Amino acid sequence: MPELPQKKVGIIACSGEELPEGTVTRLAALKVLEKLRPSDTVTICLPLFLAGGEGDRAFAKFYPTIAVDGCDKRCAYRATEKYSNKPAAGIVIKDLIEKHHIQKPQGTRRLDAAGQEAVAAAAEEIATKVDELLGKAWSRRQGTFAETSQSDQPQEEVEATCSCGSGIPIQKVQVNGQELSLVALPLIFQNLFQLGKTLGNETGHEIMEMVKIYNSIDSSVEADVESAVFEAYTDYYRQQEVKA
Ligand code: SF4
Repeated sequence: MPELPQKKVGIIACSGEELPEGTVTRLAALKVLEKLRPSDTVTICLPLFLAGGEGDRAFAKFYPTIAVDGCDKRCAYRATEKYSNKPAAGIVIKDLIEKHHIQKPQGTRRLDAAGQEAVAAAAEEIATKVDELLGKAWSRRQGTFAETSQSDQPQEEVEATCSCGSGIPIQKVQVNGQELSLVALPLIFQNLFQLGKTLGNETGHEIMEMVKIYNSIDSSVEADVESAVFEAYTDYYRQQEVKA
C-alpha cells in the first residue's frame, strides 16, 4: 500500500565550493544523514529548489528543515525560505567554529584537522537540532510546529541521496473557478482506494480530513474544497475500477 511520507527532518547544506566552510556543511550534513540520524533525516539539493516543480518546492513545508550554511551569506537558508518554506532552524559554520573555538579550516577538497573538527562539531549540532525538532509535532498544514512527542531508536547507517525525483506529489483541483494545488492528494487517493473506500459522503469527509493535515485550507472555502476533492476522487476511483 502506498504510504504517506513519515515524519523526518530535512537537511539542506549550502555545499559552497569556494570556502572550506562550504565543504564542512556538506560533510557534516552527510554524517548526520548517513550515520548519526539516518532514519530521521532526508535531504534535497539547492538546485532542485530552483529548477524543481511544486512537489519539490513543498519539501520544507512537508519536513521541518535545518539549513546548514558555510558563511553569513546563508545561501541555503535564504533559498529554502524563498522557494519552499522558512527553515525550522539554521546553522552557520563560521559562527559554530567561533563558538567551539576551532581554528579556521583550510582546504576545500581535503579539509585539514581543524576542518575535520568543525565537521564533527557541526554534525553533532545538526543531530541535536534534529532531536529537538522531532520532539515537537510538525504541522504539515501550517508548515510550523504544533505540540510535543518523541521516540529515540538506535539507527542503522544508510547512504544519503538527494530527494531528486521523489518530491511530494501534488494534484490540482478547481475550486470556484480557481486552480488549487493540494500537497499529497495523489497519495491520499491511493491510500483510500486501497483501503476500499467507496464513493460516498463519508469518504468525502475522510479525504478532506487528510487533505487538511497536509494543506492549509481556509474555513470559508472548506466545503467547496471538499466537494472538489471528492469529485477528483470520484474520477480517480472510476479510473482504477476500469484498470481492475
Ligand atoms: S553560504 Fe557561504 S559558503 Fe555557502 S554557498 Fe553561500 S557563500 Fe558559499
